[in-house]
Amino acid sequence: MTAALDLLDLDPSLTDEERQIRDVVRQLVDDRVRPHVADWYEQGQVPARELAREFGKLGLLGMHLTGYGCAGASAVAYGLACQELEAGDSGLRSLVSVQGSLAMYAIWRYGSEEQKQRWLPSMATGEAIGCFGLTEPDHGSDPASMTTRARRDGDDWVLTGAKMWITNAPIADAAVIWARTDEGVRGFLVPVDTPGVTAREIRRKMSLRASVTGEIALDDVRLPADAQLPEAIGLKAPLSCLTEARYGIVWGAVGAARDCLETTLAYATTRTQFGRPLAGFQLTQAKLADMAVELVKGQLLALHLGRLADAHRLRPEQVSVGKLNNVREALAIARQCRTILGANGVSGEYPIMRHANNLESVLTYEGTSEIHQLVVGQRLTGISAFA
Ligand SMILES: Cc1cc2nc3c(=O)[nH]c(=O)nc-3n(C[C@H](O)[C@H](O)[C@H](O)COP(=O)(O)OP(=O)(O)OC[C@H]3O[C@@H](n4cnc5c(N)ncnc54)[C@H](O)[C@@H]3O)c2cc1C
Repeated sequence: MTAALDLLDLDPSLTDEERQIRDVVRQLVDDRVRPHVADWYEQGQVPARELAREFGKLGLLGMHLTGYGCAGASAVAYGLACQELEAGDSGLRSLVSVQGSLAMYAIWRYGSEEQKQRWLPSMATGEAIGCFGLTEPDHGSDPASMTTRARRDGDDWVLTGAKMWITNAPIADAAVIWARTDEGVRGFLVPVDTPGVTAREIRRKMSLRASVTGEIALDDVRLPADAQLPEAIGLKAPLSCLTEARYGIVWGAVGAARDCLETTLAYATTRTQFGRPLAGFQLTQAKLADMAVELVKGQLLALHLGRLADAHRLRPEQVSVGKLNNVREALAIARQCRTILGANGVSGEYPIMRHANNLESVLTYEGTSEIHQLVVGQRLTGISAFA
């Protein structure tokens, strides 16, 4: 980020290695994403497989996991990578989050040794793409009510149901599918070419257009017994995966906000009205100052949560604090930056409206802002208002 935006001198509190990883990802985003992302967004088409392989080469897929070809980086380094990716576009951070923190993490944490050997190395290189199917057409915030079913038939499992709004589904090789069984919720590793599986792209999204989203229909999908993730018992298994992914969002949202503010600072200091730069008006400076304060607060929060994660002390409700605050503030920053760019703020020639639109999805997925309020509320009061 521009030195002026680092109001609190956070840069020196990163290690050399953390700064190095951040700079490598920033360079990748500058070279490979920024020149094209406005077109990908406008066309609603992104070369996701090609990008996944490039991200894989840099070790960004399953970056915080160990073994099986994963980089074993610290939580802070992973967060910094998310921040740089989302400064490019939330869709690209989503690609990396879903691959690494949802699909790969579920296999890494709950899979059998055979499942790990079969899928993790190829997912780490980006040769294989994974997705994570929890949400259903009629069950989003309340996954405990899911109706996708897995029933035993001899040694096999037979899955029936539908999953909706699944990132990467139309390009995935394997889907982690959560389904209700007679013993409660269980996870299944489903190769997408299994008969009975269809993945259809969701079109006309006005947000995250540089990300592939789909629905998955499961029509009597017969799977061998070893397709089940043996260690995933109950809903707490998918929820733990979501905590992993939400942690990346805490950092990523700050990246999108930073990109908006950097763009706006450059614009406001060069665009002149009434004979002076926009940045010379007190009203503009008040907006810029308030946004910069929120940005550094969000960065501090992300870094603090990252250090807790690296010390193995990060609790799910703390991640909720981070996701709730940082996405909400990033969206507010994007909208405020939009005003400073005037008409240019609505143009795809600038990244701001794209970030703002993307952040609408980020506010909703991985637990809506309301659900995170309820998680924090439960921590404060000891009363669950939603479960
Ligand atoms: C682009 C995109 C990508 C996604 N990728 C994935 C993915 O890869 N895998 C996956 O499984 N899902 C994915 N999702 C789905 C996402 O996680 C859900 O949209 C989210 O959980 C919310 O569910 P819903 O959309 O059904 O909204 P609903 O649950 O219907 O909620 C609608 C509104 O009601 C509010 N609400 C619900 N319950 C309560 C309550 N108890 N108290 C107060 N307010 C409440 C919500 O906060 C929200 O404002 C994705 C979504 C999007 C938009």
